[in-house]
Amino acid sequence: MSQIKPPDSASTPANPLFDDWTGPDGVPPFDRIVPEHFRPAYARALAEHEAEIAAIAANSEPPSFANTIAALELSGRALERIGNVFHLLVGADSNDALLEIEREMSPRIARHWNKINTNEALFRRIDTLMRGVEKLGLSAEQKRVLERYHTGFRRAGAALDSAAKQRLAAIIERLAALGTAFSQNVLADEQAFTLRLEGEAELAGLPDFMREAVKADAQERGIDGYVVTLSRSSVEPFLQFSDRRDLREKIFRGFVKRGDNGSLTDNKKNIAEMVRLRAERAKLLGYADFAHYRLDDAMAKAPAAVRDLLDTVWSPARLRALDDRDAMQALIQADGGNFKLEPWDWRYYAEKLRQRRCNFDEAAIKPYFNLDRIIEAAFYTARRLFGLSFTPRTDVPAWHPDVRVWQVRDGDGDGNEVGLFFGDYFARASKRSGAWMTSLRDQEKLKGDIRPHIVNVCNFAKALEGEPTLLSFEDARTLFHEFGHALHGLLSSVTYPKIAGTSVATDFVELPSQLYEHWLQQPDVLRRFARHYQTGEAMPEELLQRLIAARNFNKGFATVEYIASAVVDLDFHSLAPPAEIDPAAFETKSLRRIGMPDEIAMRHRPPHFDHVFTGGGYAAAYYSYMWSEVLDADAFAAFEETGDIFDPATAKRLRDTIYSAGGAQDPADAYKAFRGRLPSPDALLRKRGFAEPAHAGI
Ligand SMILES: [Zn+2]
Repeated sequence: MSQIKPPDSASTPANPLFDDWTGPDGVPPFDRIVPEHFRPAYARALAEHEAEIAAIAANSEPPSFANTIAALELSGRALERIGNVFHLLVGADSNDALLEIEREMSPRIARHWNKINTNEALFRRIDTLMRGVEKLGLSAEQKRVLERYHTGFRRAGAALDSAAKQRLAAIIERLAALGTAFSQNVLADEQAFTLRLEGEAELAGLPDFMREAVKADAQERGIDGYVVTLSRSSVEPFLQFSDRRDLREKIFRGFVKRGDNGSLTDNKKNIAEMVRLRAERAKLLGYADFAHYRLDDAMAKAPAAVRDLLDTVWSPARLRALDDRDAMQALIQADGGNFKLEPWDWRYYAEKLRQRRCNFDEAAIKPYFNLDRIIEAAFYTARRLFGLSFTPRTDVPAWHPDVRVWQVRDGDGDGNEVGLFFGDYFARASKRSGAWMTSLRDQEKLKGDIRPHIVNVCNFAKALEGEPTLLSFEDARTLFHEFGHALHGLLSSVTYPKIAGTSVATDFVELPSQLYEHWLQQPDVLRRFARHYQTGEAMPEELLQRLIAARNFNKGFATVEYIASAVVDLDFHSLAPPAEIDPAAFETKSLRRIGMPDEIAMRHRPPHFDHVFTGGGYAAAYYSYMWSEVLDADAFAAFEETGDIFDPATAKRLRDTIYSAGGAQDPADAYKAFRGRLPSPDALLRKRGFAEPAHAGI
């Protein structure tokens, strides 16, 4: 249920989005914000920002770092403040009114930024500064910030002629509208689909935790009985455990057909137009295609480097997956089944295969992964590595009763304030699927010592009232992953907002998050926190060892479903204009080229690939997770080599060079500062178990 009040309360004249937020820690007064407040607040904030920009651009003084770059860094604060609240709500607790405002505002905001980023007078000032950068006497951080502005303006088209600029503006605005439509279509398809389970026969195979989760999902929707939804944390365990092959097929089809139902919410047309417009945009900016444009400003630098990495990992991963497929087919036959393994069977038979090979049962470990204890485990790791403490805050307003808030400090209790951490962990109908980190306020020192307010949003299936929520190991990994991003935001220690926290290249930003996942898999952490939710007993040592030994089980599948999405993303964005495509045929062709096994579906099919088509944050950049994994596999080895996974000297270096450094350095330089060199993919191949021989037979 939403915290948002019905529209009639908007008749009160006061708009809290106009006020200084004087409540606890300056957190937005969520309880007083209603959707109707956003239109007027946006209008005022956009006008204010425009005036600030006009003043900076028209300054009669010659350009200086202070009157141009620092001034830009201080501008647009109201817009940012409102945007942070709005985007948080649209993602984590939306409703029709907010979605309508989003449709209206996203092209307007895109137009607003494009106008700034292509402002000729402004660019001239930045360009003048950049040309004389060595004579300005700037600090290393200031130099980097200037450089980022210059690159950003150049990449936005500030140096183009006016006809090209005009076309670019139209493209950007249209892309913003399409991105919003795309995400709203996915959300609509997710909300429209529920699979009701009637009676014991339809619950067959589901362990207790899953029965409770589907019951809680039904309750949340005001339905009596049991409901499977299209959230990943509902779909995946259902596919893993349900004995009902027919129902598995139904839920699987619902999941992979999101955004692809031939109805009003079908995203294929949107994809075709977005791919075409992105290609055209890249060409206007002087690049062969969108992937070249995108990667020019990433750590990878060019698509060829990405394809090299994906190819290197694809072949052994695919072979491993095919071996597992054959073993599962043999299992089916051995059980007297007379059918070919289909994509909706994979997780089910993988679970059976795991029980045989690893003597390891997902349902047996689940009681040991109590959400509250895993949150504690994430905090414990942060204390051991970085000396942080986390104290619950109950006085801070939030957007939903499920949200929890912690005060983060250096040291125990009375140390320096680091920031606030918000955890919004449970799935609900008003939340889009997936898991992400975002912020209500970023760290900076320019406008005073501003402490960050960092948010993690997840979609864990909530237990019934009064029961503890139990996570799968994958869910626990997701929690650690997002918490790693959160630390990147919380530990940020830079002066300028431009480079604060996670403002780094997309293929570098997954390093702090994926690296953090390693600690969840360590015996020291599991022994302390993987405790039975009823008895409080630690996981039996032998089960713990089996859990760790099984960590690479089914890695072929996980790698194949991921790389397939990364390749199709890169293919879509490697088209030269005019880039006219039929997205469905294109997807099929792309998958055929790499030899995608029929029994495996992409992790994200294009029609619901939010990473790539909503906002475009990961367009031509979904490979980033694997690129960052090359780094995280190698970075964790730095701890292992010392013989102490919490080695203080290594942890300090990690904090200084990566977690607190934001985008203060080029990513390759930042990594070298931590590790002394760049890594090869070998550590990744070892981590995923592809350096070892495959398991023979069932
Ligand atoms: Zn991430």
